[in-house]
Amino acid sequence: MSSNRRTFAIISHPDAGKTTLTEKLLLQGGAIHLAGEVKARGAARRARSDWMKIEQQRGISVTSSVMTFQKDGVVFNLLDTPGHEDFSEDTYRTLTAVDSAIMVIDAAKGIEPQTRKLFEVCRLRSVPIITFVNKVDREGRAVFETLDEVADALALDVCPMSWPIGMGGIFEGVLDFATQTIARPEGDSREFLGKRDPVTDGAIPADIAEEIELAQMGYPEFDLTAYRNGDLTPVYFGSALKNFGVAEMIDAIARYAPPPRPQPSESGTIELDHPEVTGFVFKVQANMDPMHRDRIAFMRMVSGTFKRGMKLTPSGLGKPIAVHSPILFFAQDREIADTAEAGDIIGIPNHGTLRVGDTLSEKNTVRFTGLPNFAPEILRRVQLKDPTKTKQLRKALDDLSEEGVIQVFYPEIGAQSIVGVVGQLQLDVLISRLEAEYKVEAVLEPSPFDTARWLKGSDAALRTFADFNLSNLAKDRDGDPVFMARSAWDVGYQQERNPELTFSATKER
Ligand code: GDP
Repeated sequence: MSSNRRTFAIISHPDAGKTTLTEKLLLQGGAIHLAGEVKARGAARRARSDWMKIEQQRGISVTSSVMTFQKDGVVFNLLDTPGHEDFSEDTYRTLTAVDSAIMVIDAAKGIEPQTRKLFEVCRLRSVPIITFVNKVDREGRAVFETLDEVADALALDVCPMSWPIGMGGIFEGVLDFATQTIARPEGDSREFLGKRDPVTDGAIPADIAEEIELAQMGYPEFDLTAYRNGDLTPVYFGSALKNFGVAEMIDAIARYAPPPRPQPSESGTIELDHPEVTGFVFKVQANMDPMHRDRIAFMRMVSGTFKRGMKLTPSGLGKPIAVHSPILFFAQDREIADTAEAGDIIGIPNHGTLRVGDTLSEKNTVRFTGLPNFAPEILRRVQLKDPTKTKQLRKALDDLSEEGVIQVFYPEIGAQSIVGVVGQLQLDVLISRLEAEYKVEAVLEPSPFDTARWLKGSDAALRTFADFNLSNLAKDRDGDPVFMARSAWDVGYQQERNPELTFSATKER
C-alpha cells in the first residue's frame, strides 16, 4: 500500500539550529498546527502558561508537539523532540513513533554528544537519517572534515548531496549536485530568496571545484536502499537561518524518506492495510490544565482510517472508549478534522486511562511491541513532609509514571518509594507537580541504588534470586520485578551469578 505520509523528527544537540529549521520547514510547508495552540484556550491557556514557567526558568522545552504540513500532495508529520539532554527519555520515546529523522549538525562543531546519543536510538531501530549541516553562512570546519567525522563517529556511509561554495565571509551559495544549480545569497541579509544559477565556467572557484571532484570520486553514490536500511546518510549543506537547503530537506523527505512502516506486534508485523484501526501511545502529556487532570495521549496510527467518534480499545484497559474529541494535527481547523490514517498522530484527551506503550485497536486483538522504558540513571527516595499523605503520594507517583515523567519502584522491603529518572530536570518537574497538582510536599533523598534492571526468568529462578536479594528487589508500577543495583559492577556480578535470569536495561511494553 502506498502512503503520502512522512512522519519524522529532527535530532540535534542544543543550539545546532533545530528550532530555526523547524520554523523554516513549517513556513515553506504553509499550514502549521501546534499541539499546544490547539488545546490551550482561555483558562486552560493560563494554567498551561503557569506550568510552562518551568520551561521558561530553565529556558528549555519540556512540552512537545506535533506539527503537520502539506506540500505537493505529501503530508509531513514532524514530531518535536525536546532538545535538552535531561529529557532524553521523552525524546527517545518520540523516536519510536517516527519513520525517519533529520540530523542537524553545526558546521563549526560537528557531531556533539546529544546528537550521538539520539543517533544511537535511531540506529537501534534502523531509523534512516538525512544529515543537514547547518550554519554554512558562518565559518565552519572544512567540508571533508565534517563528512569524515559523520562517517567515522556514526559508522555510516556518507553521501554529499550538495556543497557549500565557501563559508562565513566568503560564502557564495550552495551547489546542489542533482540539479547542478547554485542557490545564491541575495541582498543585505545574504539570504536565499529563490535565486538559483546554473553552473557555468568560473562559477565555482578552482579550489572548491577540485574538492567537489574529489568528493564525488571518494564517497559512495546515493543508494536509496542503503539509506532506508540506515546504512547511508545523504548529507546536505545549508543555513536554516538564511533559508539555504530548506527546500532541499522537504524534497528529500518527500522523495527518499520511507512512508509509514509496518510495526512489530506480539502476533506478527502489522501492515498499513491491516483491516482495522490500530496505533500505539508514545507520549502522554498532562499539565495543559492541571485543575482538571486532563491529559493528551499521543497515538501514532499504524493502520486503518480513523474517524471521529470511533471506539477503540486500549490494551491497558481492556474495554473500548469512544474517541469523540480527538486532536487531529492534520486539520487546518480542528472543527472539521475528521479522519487520520497510518503515520498520522492523534491526540486523545483522557483522564489517565491511556498510558505510554498502550496499543489501541478496534478489535482489541493487537499488541505492539518495542516501546521501551529506559533504565533510570538517577534514583531517589521520596520522603513525605506530611506522613498522612501517603495515599496521595502513591496516586501522584502512579499518575506521573503513567505519563512517563518518572519511573516508580516499590521496594520489597521498606515503605519508601523510589523514583527513577534519566535526567535531573525530571526531578524538578516531579517536585513542582507534586506540590501544584497533588498538594503533596516531598523531598528527595539519595537512595543506595545507582541503577535498575528489569528481571526476566522462570518463577523458580526469580524466587531463588529473591531469597538471596530481597533488599535489592522492587516492583515497578505494573508489578514486574526489578533489580535495584548499587553499581554497574553489581549488575555484572549478579548477571554472571544468575545466568538463568535476564537483566534488562529497557522494558518493552
Ligand atoms: P536549537 O537549540 O537546535 O533549536 O537551535 P536554534 O534554532 O534555537 O538556534 C540556535 C542559535 O543559532 C540561534 O541563535 C539561531 O539564530 C542560530 N542559528 C540557527 N541556524 C543558523 C544558521 O543557519 N546560521 C547562523 N549564522 N545562525 C543560525
